[in-house]
Amino acid sequence: MTTVYKFGGASIQDAAAIRHLGEVLATTRERPLVVVVSAMGKTTNALEALLTAARSYDDRDYRSRLDELRSAHLATVDALFGDRKAAVAERVEALFEELDRRHRTHRQEPRPFHYDQTICFGELLSTTLVAAWLNEIGTATDWHDARELIVTDARHQAANVDWPATRERIRALDGDRLLLTQGFIGGTPDGVSTTLGREGSDFSAAIFAHCLEAGELVIWKDVPGLFNADPRRFDNAVQLQRLSYDEAIELAWHGAKVIHPKTLAPLREKGIPLKVRSFEELDAPPSVISAEGASAVTPAFILAEEQVLLELRPRDFSFMDEARQHDILGRLVEAGEHANLVDSGATRLSLCLDAHPARLEPLVESLAADYALERHDDLTLLTVRHPTEPLLEALSGDREILAERCNRDTAQRLFRSSECPETWHLPDQEGKGAGQSVR
Ligand code: ADP
Ligand code: ASP
Ligand code: MG
Repeated sequence: MTTVYKFGGASIQDAAAIRHLGEVLATTRERPLVVVVSAMGKTTNALEALLTAARSYDDRDYRSRLDELRSAHLATVDALFGDRKAAVAERVEALFEELDRRHRTHRQEPRPFHYDQTICFGELLSTTLVAAWLNEIGTATDWHDARELIVTDARHQAANVDWPATRERIRALDGDRLLLTQGFIGGTPDGVSTTLGREGSDFSAAIFAHCLEAGELVIWKDVPGLFNADPRRFDNAVQLQRLSYDEAIELAWHGAKVIHPKTLAPLREKGIPLKVRSFEELDAPPSVISAEGASAVTPAFILAEEQVLLELRPRDFSFMDEARQHDILGRLVEAGEHANLVDSGATRLSLCLDAHPARLEPLVESLAADYALERHDDLTLLTVRHPTEPLLEALSGDREILAERCNRDTAQRLFRSSECPETWHLPDQEGKGAGQSVR
């Protein structure tokens, strides 16, 4: 049975990390083994900044950013291969030339199309480097271009997978060597590059696992597993050893950044367990997400920062009825925005959105033209799964709640970020011990 591994940017951020990845894979006997890899470190952010510079025709900024990225990749090649680097360095240089050419060719096209033709190079570069390294250390590896395997429509930056076509292409792969490919990227049937959405490499790995009916998908992370809250933001978060697909989907959907929300459903359909494992502590027990996940529901906490609250009211004497809600939510869909919280009253609709300027600002402008709009910036949304009232109260402290929503199993509260602690401390279920660390 096939095993699928996924490694994120942190696992290949520099030569030391790639060496460590090589050691992990050299000791892995599972075959067939598909390995899905993201771009190195923060390369995708750097490529987005490069895109902005290219589109604003700021050639100096563009050049210096391109040189910086090229130097960083070549420095890693140098550190790994030393005087045997010529062939890899040449391939990396060729990818940068192609990237540069595409920036110039496509910069008058719509941004999402330009984005996909250029941002995909992060993963093309990282996998070129990693495949060369694995072959160098004697782990026989075949590099595959995911743009020829994951078939999508042309909805750029958020492409939809054509499952039957993708399944056919992926199942045609064979060989008992390690198969290395890119996360995050796909291609249309006529070969135009697409991307699946930021952080989409987890989803790519799930696509491979689903199509190959893999025995398991292992996502290697810079944390030991899935916790009941982000362990970097909550000082007493605890690891969840077992979790059901449904609960994991809820956590991911509400913004637990550790897994891309689209990852779970393709696995659940085939009953493929997902292991979240530490890339750093190889002996640490992973979190296992499967159909047999824990039945006891324990509270879990998700922070979403850089949130914006929009409060909309009809300009006339009418109510915020279905017709108006339909109009407003329709504009959200068109803008590609997702509301993290929706709350309505007789004459008000409140929406909490990610502060993503490229999508948000045109949306705000369009809504403000037809509705009375009040806006609050710099907010933090706290989502609590399986909340208890004392727990919510203890976490909220005496902070003002700008919006809230609660149903049977999920509560959400919106606070000013300036009033939130840098590091949070979880109270027990009776609400005791919520030490509110200060900024
Ligand atoms: P990758 O680049 O490998 O996809 P990410 O940075 O996207 O890795 O995801 C790992 C990060 O997710 C961790 O460093 C951690 O800060 C964050 N995180 C958020 N919520 C959780 C959670 N509930 N459990 C574990 N990690 C979490
Ligand atoms: N490199 C892409 C990103 O940073 C995809 C991923 O890492 O999952 O969003
Ligand atoms: Mg990620």
